[in-house]
Amino acid sequence: MQNDISFITNILVFVGASLLGISFFPIRRLISQLSVGNIRQKWNFLSILIFLFLFGYVIYNIIYWDRYNDYFNLIIPVVFFFSAIIVLLVGSLALQTATDLNQVSALRRENIIDPLIGIYNRRHLNLKLDEEILRAQRYSFQLSMLLLDIDHFKNVNDTYGHYIGDLVLKSLGHLLLKNVRKTDIVARYGGEEIAIIAPHTSVPTAADLAERLRQVVETSVMVPADEQEDRQAVSISVSIGVAGLDQKIVDRQSLIEKTDEALYKAKQKGRNRVVVFNRKVDSF
Ligand code: GH3
Ligand code: MG
Ligand code: MG
Repeated sequence: MQNDISFITNILVFVGASLLGISFFPIRRLISQLSVGNIRQKWNFLSILIFLFLFGYVIYNIIYWDRYNDYFNLIIPVVFFFSAIIVLLVGSLALQTATDLNQVSALRRENIIDPLIGIYNRRHLNLKLDEEILRAQRYSFQLSMLLLDIDHFKNVNDTYGHYIGDLVLKSLGHLLLKNVRKTDIVARYGGEEIAIIAPHTSVPTAADLAERLRQVVETSVMVPADEQEDRQAVSISVSIGVAGLDQKIVDRQSLIEKTDEALYKAKQKGRNRVVVFNRKVDSF
């Protein structure tokens, strides 16, 4: 009987220790997926505890190696065995959960972000615009919109190629994000048209913002010169239309329509300027 007990015990201990050892793999993979921070520290701490658990149990087993002679002695190896299974399950499920959540957040990002420019896409702009208009009307605050279009962008593509055109769009997105408030929403409206929703912003303030953005774009290099490619620095200018909610402009469609009208006027008046719906702002 003693041999049987000893055999069962050793099997339980060996398999349990192996399972604990294996559980380090999902846990290490999980830790590598976590960004540096509090949760990562806690998982690191937990893996140290698991290691100490494993180490302690191996020592215990070495001490009691030939003393398993009663079914009563099986209790600790059995508890240890099931604890090892629990640790392995928790580690594997946590890894699976983190992987799934990462995928969900990547999908959500893909769903709302324009892959080329790295700003919100048109679908998300529509959602946010509806949301912000409702909020502005509910709490009686002002809301303005800017619509920006690159001047003669076709020439950029024709002169430098589509690849450089794409880089210009990326730089423009980056520049705009850097120069608006965190609460403003910057989104790709169309090919090279970018919309900015500015909540809590009156039309005159939005016009000032538009003028500032226009100047920043005009004075920035979008793609640096490249001697090897024999290419000069690429700069652009933009035309911007501005409109805001009022008694007549009360929904997404009319706000976009009026902002677009202002943009059209800015193009008509010679480009590289800001036009406010119903009110011209002198850009020069
Ligand atoms: P305008 O001053 O009247 O705006 O002149 P424009 O040449 O910019 O005319 P328009 O606004 O109609 O230009 C659209 C051009 O933008 C045509 C198209 O080749 C270019 N474009 C649109 N989307 C992209 C893109 O994703 N990448 C690149 N490289 N070019 C794009
Ligand atoms: Mg254009
Ligand atoms: Mg355009």
